[in-house]
Amino acid sequence: MRPKAIGLLSGGLDSVLAIRLVMEQGIEVVALHVVLPFVARSKCAGPAAEWLGIRLVERELGEDFVDVLRNPKYGYGKGFNPCIDCHLYMLRMARQLMEDEGADFVVTGDVLKQRPKSQTLNALGIEDKWSGLKGLIVRPLSGAQLAPTLPEAAGVVDRARFLSLIGKNRKPQLELARDMGLTAFSPPAGGCALTNREFGVKARTFFSLVPHVTLDDLALLRWGRHFYRAGAHIVVGKDRKENSHIMELRKPDDVVFRASDVGSPIVLLRGEVTQLTLVAAAQLTAVYSDTSSGDVANVKYFGAGLQGSVAIEQSAGEQGPANGQNGVTARTCPVLALMG
Ligand code: SF4
Repeated sequence: MRPKAIGLLSGGLDSVLAIRLVMEQGIEVVALHVVLPFVARSKCAGPAAEWLGIRLVERELGEDFVDVLRNPKYGYGKGFNPCIDCHLYMLRMARQLMEDEGADFVVTGDVLKQRPKSQTLNALGIEDKWSGLKGLIVRPLSGAQLAPTLPEAAGVVDRARFLSLIGKNRKPQLELARDMGLTAFSPPAGGCALTNREFGVKARTFFSLVPHVTLDDLALLRWGRHFYRAGAHIVVGKDRKENSHIMELRKPDDVVFRASDVGSPIVLLRGEVTQLTLVAAAQLTAVYSDTSSGDVANVKYFGAGLQGSVAIEQSAGEQGPANGQNGVTARTCPVLALMG
């Protein structure tokens, strides 16, 4: 029977090349793509798996990832990114799939020292040890620089055919991709919001205010201005694009607000739906709409079994920044706990 491996496939170049290098040795590979709510969904994992000619399994993070994020054992990077813990989490998912599929080992696109924290020799050692995959993580892009894994020692794969890449220089990977005719892959780093300092501040604030954070909340945190009041999370879209992302992430128990007949953000209320929080969300809708000072905003809402409208008078000084501007400016809006 052909040896079989699970290949972690982000859709980025390194993961595709690593899998290809193993497949060239006659190994059957099943790709695992982990869907991450804080990463722009890769449009490349599907085409990459197709290009490789392998089956793609997509799996989502479990809610226990929120605990990893809240309290990572190996700390954060520059933003709110617990990369070593995150890698460990994904490797454990790969180990589970390896067992489900009766596969022999796992392949990753790690390149030694490409990332300052999560791809050091020490970090790779931690991942090997604590993922439950000791000796079973094959890293073909830097394989020649690393200690032989069990499949290499057993001659299942030939480490002499692996690369010895180190560091951030991506030229060798780009040349290899060109030689292989590979064109569809995600940009490096994949746009993980957790690495973004601004998002990190927002996420930390959110975690400090909200006792029970879900992965859906984290996905929502990528868009809009965020407010928290009386057990409710209120999200105000900054522009048309954000409005549409917010609507995509809407859940049946969320309430959506919009001012009619004027330019208006989409405002989403999640959590405790009470008269207080409904009014707070309606007021935010009016404040960030194009309703002029002194006029009345007609704010419509629907969702969570509710539907209706409320008239909010836009007092002088209550207009928020025009849609599309970043940040939250001081104003007389009665909703507190501004989160930017
Ligand atoms: S960059 Fe983001 S997705 Fe990648 S390992 Fe770090 S936290 Fe996880």
